[in-house]
Amino acid sequence: MRKLLFLLGLLAAQLAFPQKTIIYCGKLIDVKSAQVLNEMSIIVEGNKISDIQKGYVNPELNDKVIDLKSKTVMPGLIDCHVHLESETSPHNFEDQFRLNEADVAFQSIGYAKKTLMAGFTTVRDVGGSGVNIALRKAINKEEVIGPRIFTAGKIIGSTGGHADPTTGLNDEFRGNPGPNEGVANGVDECIKAVRERYKEGSDLIKITASAGVLSLESSGQGAQFSEAEIKAIVSTAKDYGMAVAAHAHGAEAIKRAIRAGVTSIEHGTYMDDEAIELFKKYGTWYVPTIIAGKASSDSAKKPGYFPAIITEKALAIGPKIQSTFAKAYKAGVKIAFGTDAGVYAHGKNWMEFIYMTEAGMPILEAIRCATISASELMGISDKTGSIEKGKLADIIAVDGDPIKNVMAMGKVDFVMKDGMIYKNL
Ligand SMILES: [Zn+2]
Repeated sequence: MRKLLFLLGLLAAQLAFPQKTIIYCGKLIDVKSAQVLNEMSIIVEGNKISDIQKGYVNPELNDKVIDLKSKTVMPGLIDCHVHLESETSPHNFEDQFRLNEADVAFQSIGYAKKTLMAGFTTVRDVGGSGVNIALRKAINKEEVIGPRIFTAGKIIGSTGGHADPTTGLNDEFRGNPGPNEGVANGVDECIKAVRERYKEGSDLIKITASAGVLSLESSGQGAQFSEAEIKAIVSTAKDYGMAVAAHAHGAEAIKRAIRAGVTSIEHGTYMDDEAIELFKKYGTWYVPTIIAGKASSDSAKKPGYFPAIITEKALAIGPKIQSTFAKAYKAGVKIAFGTDAGVYAHGKNWMEFIYMTEAGMPILEAIRCATISASELMGISDKTGSIEKGKLADIIAVDGDPIKNVMAMGKVDFVMKDGMIYKNL
């Protein structure tokens, strides 16, 4: 009896003083003020940040202390452009005919885990077969370890274009995919394609406003939707509270998509001065994916890696994105971090920071692109994207000081997502 009373007393004490986690931060990157703060404590209760205090605060009886005094702490990173279902390989093309959805699902589990362990606590999956929707659900239910996912489900494109899953295949396989498969022509089909994505459970819409590099088509940049079609997609998406991300390499496609009201332009390779003015006039986000361009042109140099029709495009378009990024940054275009993970190996997302800084953006600004700015683009800045009281406890730490050496971004030692610790080296 006495023992029972003791246990009940202990339980009452636990309830009265719920366990807090106190994170001691040697350096803390405050992305809101764009400053690095020294010797700070973050207090986490449940899945939220309940306080941030100067110095190393003393723990109470039940509190847990995490010592990151020798590390640089920052908000969990956000990648606005990933594809978690697949990863580049010289046999990607045969794989489309070999793999079943279950195979895709199993391989995506590993990619999701690598992404989270690299410090990316939130991602936007901008297109796959629909397995990405199931993956989001499994992660939310904690059945699979991975980042918080916002997914576009299937990409919407036009017949024969970058997102037509049968582009470049023979007569037998070509078929006639429609809005259900993400292929739409004309305003009515575009509206239907958006509603199909809503029905499937997508969080946002991804379209291919232009041709692309890694599809079996002759052009890598031609416009593939009319402005009227994109307008129909944007206004229908709005009905369901969904943003529209537009893949676009060519200037004409970029301009049509911006004028039609898309939220972000992905890649943006051939943006000209007129396009830059439109970005600023409409407040459109730019998601550069420099690493994807570099990785595809590197792969293209390996004999037989891609079919010939792709090799040529990858060599021409890939290396251009970095200078486009530099131009857009100088001109004051709003930039959010995105990498096209899957086009290169998952987990190396952080290498985009190297390329962004090489192109003239200070690392602190690049980290802001991958945190506070990315959360604004995704409409989740009230929940994540900075370490602030009341926000979700999405917190990472790297070994070393990334302000002094960008390579530190590749040494992620601590990952907390939603108040749960996934990595603590
Ligand atoms: Zn992509």
